[in-house]
Amino acid sequence: MVRFWIAFVLTLGLSPAMAQEKLPVVASFSILGDLVQQIGGDRVAVTTIVGPNADAHGYQPKPGDAKAVAAARILFANGLGFDNWMQRLQKSSGSKAPMIVVSTGIVPLKSQGKAHSGHDHGAIDPHAWHDAASLQRYAANIRDALVTADPAGRAYFDARLANYDTALKALDAEIKAAIAAIPADRRKIVTAHDAFGYFGRAYGIVFLAPQGVSTETQPSAQDIARIIRFIRETKAPAVFIETIADPRQMERIAQESGARIGGKLYSDALSPPNGPAGTTIEMIRTNIRELNKALAPQS
Ligand SMILES: [Zn+2]
Repeated sequence: MVRFWIAFVLTLGLSPAMAQEKLPVVASFSILGDLVQQIGGDRVAVTTIVGPNADAHGYQPKPGDAKAVAAARILFANGLGFDNWMQRLQKSSGSKAPMIVVSTGIVPLKSQGKAHSGHDHGAIDPHAWHDAASLQRYAANIRDALVTADPAGRAYFDARLANYDTALKALDAEIKAAIAAIPADRRKIVTAHDAFGYFGRAYGIVFLAPQGVSTETQPSAQDIARIIRFIRETKAPAVFIETIADPRQMERIAQESGARIGGKLYSDALSPPNGPAGTTIEMIRTNIRELNKALAPQS
């Protein structure tokens, strides 16, 4: 009996503080997990399904994922065909939580046709997170969803959104300055898969990839031959490896085309927190540093 009362008193004493309960939410992949954390701060407990350095295209959910989804009050997905498996997870977990598609309101980009493998032609490009203006939309959508689920946190979320917006505007200016330092005829890049279409559209740089906007299909021999031709014809100075992809294919393309390996880009995932791309903003900063190093004249 005594033990019961001690437990009871402890529970009374502790739970309101601990349970200033953080809102349990799920984000489909690492970049989105970071964005939700940036806006949600101390009021959310974020579970990310596809973690650092991992590829979320065509992810196969594991049993533990359904558990996290079942416990979540909000589910965040990128949309644009990137993480459709979240809908299957929602169903299989029996979750009644709303699914927030954070790319809502962004003008979607279609894959660039000829630059891609034929089967991919016209596919929607999901990689909107590489454009700072799109990220502002992502952040605003996340804020709206958090306020709906946790109205008492409104002022807190608003303040965090305002801070993050300021950081994104600064990032946007940084990207523009970095690209401006690259001579116009060198603003063309080959990457493993077509992850930088929005970045290219926003900042004026041409990206080409043997693989289309998803990593779910493998490039054909013709796709690779076309990329090698493109590099030779346009004298594209560098090809880039992606952190989520096997580097061997790009190494082969570099060897056959005479282009250099320019560096490593973060396309679809953050690094672990202590790495060079621990947050979305750090990821983009690291990418522009890599692009700049490979393409801008070094003094
Ligand atoms: Zn991708």
